[in-house]
Amino acid sequence: MQAFYKKGLNSASGIPYLPNGTPVADGGLTYLAFVQGFRDTHRLNPDPNAREVCVLCGGPLGESPEVDHWIAQSGVPLFSVCSDNLLPTCGTCNSTTNKGEKDVHDGGSFANWFHPYLRAANGALTLGYDLLSRRVTCTAAQEIDQPKVENLNHLLNLRDRWTREFKNEYVDQQNVLRRREQIRIQNGQPRHTQAEVLQYLRQMQADLVPSKPHYEVHQVLCATMLETARLAAWQTELDLVQ
Ligand SMILES: [Zn+2]
Repeated sequence: MQAFYKKGLNSASGIPYLPNGTPVADGGLTYLAFVQGFRDTHRLNPDPNAREVCVLCGGPLGESPEVDHWIAQSGVPLFSVCSDNLLPTCGTCNSTTNKGEKDVHDGGSFANWFHPYLRAANGALTLGYDLLSRRVTCTAAQEIDQPKVENLNHLLNLRDRWTREFKNEYVDQQNVLRRREQIRIQNGQPRHTQAEVLQYLRQMQADLVPSKPHYEVHQVLCATMLETARLAAWQTELDLVQ
């Protein structure tokens, strides 16, 4: 079965069926058509030139998405030909450091696991930021889903990856303000006031676009920076206001 599908999917004419199962002599389903169909369906911004988002991590999908086998080929080979088991994702999610061939069940039980098609995690996660540990937090919107959230995090290392993205973006925004401050100093203009820093952060929050990669992490970053305590810390970190 695997040999039949792999040979067919990767051929120019594809396997002799349409996606809905209708047999055809020509113009059957190809691997490329499957991936393109998935990308078109999950495109958050319909503009073909817009950045695409990985459905697992919310990061950039990248130029060449990889097709993950949700249940690894080595586990149940037959599922490698089942479309509900195939998931185009970013290369980072599919790497051996993250999902790789890890199990997505507990000894055959799927009760504490999300499934990309049949029990999606979309909308079931709540992100935040813990100032003490300086890490992005990820909890279940509903208590009953917490074991699923923990398993998903273990599978994809989402908290670690989202914390890195949070800090990357934080540094970028620091640098923007620092550059603006330097330009003001060079031009002999007054330095930024606290109100101007606040205005910058509010504008950054208002400019967030849901269809762009890492929207949720950047939302958390904006909310964290706008907290009074964090805002005060910015004054010191940026040395913006005398
Ligand atoms: Zn991903």
